[in-house]
Amino acid sequence: RDLIIAIDGFSSTGKSTLAKLLAKELGYIHIDSGAMYRAISLYALENGMIDGNQVNEFELLPQLEFMDIHFELNPDTGKNEIFLNGENVEEKIRAMEVSSKVSLIAKIPEVRSFAVNLQRKMGEKKRIVMDGRDIGTTVFPNADLKIFLNASAEERAKRRYEELLKTDTPATFEAVFQNISERDHIDSTREISPLKQAEDAVLVDNGKLTPQETLAEVLAIIKG
Ligand code: C5P
Repeated sequence: RDLIIAIDGFSSTGKSTLAKLLAKELGYIHIDSGAMYRAISLYALENGMIDGNQVNEFELLPQLEFMDIHFELNPDTGKNEIFLNGENVEEKIRAMEVSSKVSLIAKIPEVRSFAVNLQRKMGEKKRIVMDGRDIGTTVFPNADLKIFLNASAEERAKRRYEELLKTDTPATFEAVFQNISERDHIDSTREISPLKQAEDAVLVDNGKLTPQETLAEVLAIIKG
């Protein structure tokens, strides 16, 4: 079957991990929508368009239409990795510097409509698993399956902290915990498509589950 599967939830609930495994299992394409907001944030940071909590929208917004954002499957990692203007920025966009600004960028209406258009275009071929915050509510309200992932803030911070340890830009547990809480707050209180569970989404709490167990639970839901 040709399905569109939407996976939403709070920060670091393992949405991308699940989406990647699920896409591989079904032979689908995985699109990490958060990576798009991160790539735009990286662009703004690298071009000096963010000062503290102030985003220079006057400079950033006209640049959006010239940004080339696309994904390419890396056979070594099995991940569909993001490219910004020809550069693979998959690792760079995970740095705390980007995480600390991304929710400010993601609440700008023009940024959202730009990203949502791109996401809908990527979904035209169906057979995709897309993860994010508003996929089931806004991007694909008619998705065939909607999963809302959750886990405790402690557990989520622990996972992100351990992930960052493996990169060139590790951070303290406290900094990671604070960043996750901050993003959850901004993401769920913004005016445009705030983070919330779609009415027809299935809630999966994976706080005590491994990625494989989470995958098994979702596959069971698909098989009904
Ligand atoms: O999924 P990830 O944690 O990488 O997303 C980074 C940020 O991008 C989120 O905290 C949120 O501000 C924004 N985002 C969003 N809508 C999405 C996906 C991500 O606003 N669909």
